[in-house]
Amino acid sequence: MNKQTIFSEATLFRGLDESVIKNGMIWVEGDRVKYAGEAIDLETIDPSIERVDLGGKFVMPGMTECHAHLSFTDANPFQLGAQTPEEATLTGIRNARVMLGSGFTSALSFGSIHRVDITLRSAINDRKIPGPRLAAAGKDLGVSGSTVDSGVFDGLEQIADGPWELRKAVRQQRRDGVDIVKIFIDGEGVCEHCTQHELSFHDDEVSAIVDEAHRHGLRVACHSRSAAGVKQAVRYGVDYIAHANFLDEEAADMLYEARDRVFVGPGIIWELGLIEHCESLGLTSEWVRERGYEEEVEASIKSVQMMLDRDIRMMVGGDYGISVAPHGTYAKDLEIFVDMFGMSPGKALLCATRDGGAAVDPDGSLGTLEAGKYADILIVDGNPLDDIKIMQDHSRFSAIIKGGIIYRDLVDDFDFTIRASDIAAKNFS
Ligand SMILES: [Zn+2]
Repeated sequence: MNKQTIFSEATLFRGLDESVIKNGMIWVEGDRVKYAGEAIDLETIDPSIERVDLGGKFVMPGMTECHAHLSFTDANPFQLGAQTPEEATLTGIRNARVMLGSGFTSALSFGSIHRVDITLRSAINDRKIPGPRLAAAGKDLGVSGSTVDSGVFDGLEQIADGPWELRKAVRQQRRDGVDIVKIFIDGEGVCEHCTQHELSFHDDEVSAIVDEAHRHGLRVACHSRSAAGVKQAVRYGVDYIAHANFLDEEAADMLYEARDRVFVGPGIIWELGLIEHCESLGLTSEWVRERGYEEEVEASIKSVQMMLDRDIRMMVGGDYGISVAPHGTYAKDLEIFVDMFGMSPGKALLCATRDGGAAVDPDGSLGTLEAGKYADILIVDGNPLDDIKIMQDHSRFSAIIKGGIIYRDLVDDFDFTIRASDIAAKNFS
């Protein structure tokens, strides 16, 4: 028989809506939730089942990081691709552990150096290493002259042009074992040859990528900042849209029409990190402003409001794994969603749990605490509905449970990230 545990006296946030059950109970059997709701009279339950009195601690579903880059080293973002497969694999093992230790029990990859995410996903599923349930992506796929085609991201870029070459690239990624095909629909302010307002693909190229991916049961995730980019993504069936910074009414309405099949990740940690720490990357504030990043933050706040008005499903996550937004700080997104996007803490938690879970598993086994779902559970010391920032404090997690298993000691002083730059300089210790 599967092991069973009953957690009683919980302040229970099930992730169905923003409500909380004061005297909550959660009953775990094997890797699944057997019951989550109002307390049941314990006298009526088999006394041999283990019981844990939580004394009012906050219990919620494990979170989902929906723009994960597990193979990124926390390095200068302009040097990210410069890792050998071996270095990137070690990096990924470390980051998978840190991500789980940060309360994220599942993750949607938005691009991986080499084939690291695919390997990580298998090792995590086989319980060889700790980490989140992972929907794995391969290298970024883009056309010649796109942001992907920068020549400095050796391990991260795959270039193909035209519908048939792009179909071939999708087939190759399929062969390699990806779940997600990551594409760049438009560009980036730091990229001189393809800005945030410039489309990379022709319509028939995006259409071919999505068609080929969906034929093989893969999903497509895109980088898309401009309104035109979001429209192209929605029109041709892209599943996950990251950024969506510069929405116009038409783009927002198209997202509304597609709201049952599309997810948007509006995180802006990259912009905020770049603006605040540009000198550390050798850039000046003037240059960052000229390249449109302050404008991008302003536009994002308006765009998120348009999506909130239309009840578009939004996911947390956004390019953590770079020097200006390192691994382990993912829950900063929740603070941004509340303080800058004006969401209630409960709404921000729903983005991180219910909506992120549905994004990673469309079959509905993740993201909420209900009978039959995976027992991916956080037991938190403190109430994030009163102060969302506590989700950034790893010491607040009394327990991180994934599939009914409690994981411990995932993040304490554990740091052996090997950086390509350190190896080049032979100064790592
Ligand atoms: Zn990204």
